[in-house]
Amino acid sequence: MNAAAEAYVKLVLAVGEHDPDYVDAYFGPPAWREQVKLHRPSLDDIRSSAEKILRDLEKLPRSDEEIVQLRHQYLIRQLRALLVRLEMLQGHAFTFDEEARGLYDAAPPHHPESYFRTVLSNLDTMVPGSGPIAERYERYRKDFIITLNKLEDVFQAAIRECRERTRRMIDLPPNERFALEYVNNKPWSGYNWYKGDSISLIQINTDLPIYIDRAVDLAAHEGYPGHHVYNSMLEKHLARERGWIEFTVYALFSPQSLIAEGTANFGIEVAFPGNQRIEFEHSVLFPAAGLDAAQAGEYYSIHRLTGVLNYAHNEAARSYLDGAMNRQQAEEWLVSYALMSPERAKQRVRFIDAYRSYVINYNLGQDLVRQYIESRGGTDDNSAKRWEEFKRLISSPRLPSGLRTSPPSQE
Ligand SMILES: [Zn+2]
Repeated sequence: MNAAAEAYVKLVLAVGEHDPDYVDAYFGPPAWREQVKLHRPSLDDIRSSAEKILRDLEKLPRSDEEIVQLRHQYLIRQLRALLVRLEMLQGHAFTFDEEARGLYDAAPPHHPESYFRTVLSNLDTMVPGSGPIAERYERYRKDFIITLNKLEDVFQAAIRECRERTRRMIDLPPNERFALEYVNNKPWSGYNWYKGDSISLIQINTDLPIYIDRAVDLAAHEGYPGHHVYNSMLEKHLARERGWIEFTVYALFSPQSLIAEGTANFGIEVAFPGNQRIEFEHSVLFPAAGLDAAQAGEYYSIHRLTGVLNYAHNEAARSYLDGAMNRQQAEEWLVSYALMSPERAKQRVRFIDAYRSYVINYNLGQDLVRQYIESRGGTDDNSAKRWEEFKRLISSPRLPSGLRTSPPSQE
């Protein structure tokens, strides 16, 4: 399997020569990347090599050891997704659902407009003020913006807390750290660039107003116990301890991303079970941001309900990419059903232009990860068990379809 793993890494790097967003992280041998840059194999060459390795992998006998089975499945599924990405780069038009299944190993659910209307009618009674809900919500949220001069303090406080909570439950590498940068003109709101050796660069986009909920969201999602920790665990346990070289490269448009985004989002609930997040926001973050802490409870009740509207992003992406909505209609949909400001809806459609069906990884990923961990006994009232399952998941090569097929009795 090691030979196939090495070939996989080189193929991912080769696709990266044709698709600048494809290689999200690489910390394997620098000579491999130089070699790929020098020879720059064509998309057809990459395809035939990938197909050959896939055939070899499919012939390999199944190991008795679960983690080795997972590695085997990981290489097969990641390579299949690489072939789908190649087809896209060669001009094949998949539907949104085909693309999502092919790249992310999961089938996105469909939600009718009526589903979002029901959520909005519940929100209607909760958001104070008068007028249409989208405008009212936007007005209400103005009181919860972190001003730019407070941003650094608020983020650092959120990061300290998320790191401390994670460090108590996960043995982090001693040199792990990240740098934080504020950037502009990006289609995303935050990004983790993993550099290897347990070091990340986290960028936060300040183009649009940043609301108080983003502090913990970003600190946990991009940092602890999200992407920074996920990448550090894969490097530590798989790349270094086991010498599994395929974990020195991260292909962005691949099943791995559903696990990465799903654990990064669900990690917020793991780190702050029950009411602990509101307590922390109330006692630390609201004061640090100069906001009225008495409002924290109501703000987070509303915030929790708007979380359900995240699936409206998927519907907008599906209709827009499949040609059922034009850009303006997709933006209007996001304003109406995801309660975004017009500016944020524009940013979101630019994200969909660049990352396409990747949008499913956030909410579907979160739901699949939650189901998987909770089905193994890691519920809210057993937070130690939940951490244990979470840690195991982010230290393993398990992919989306593997979240459904492994009942607890097998481990
Ligand atoms: Zn993310």
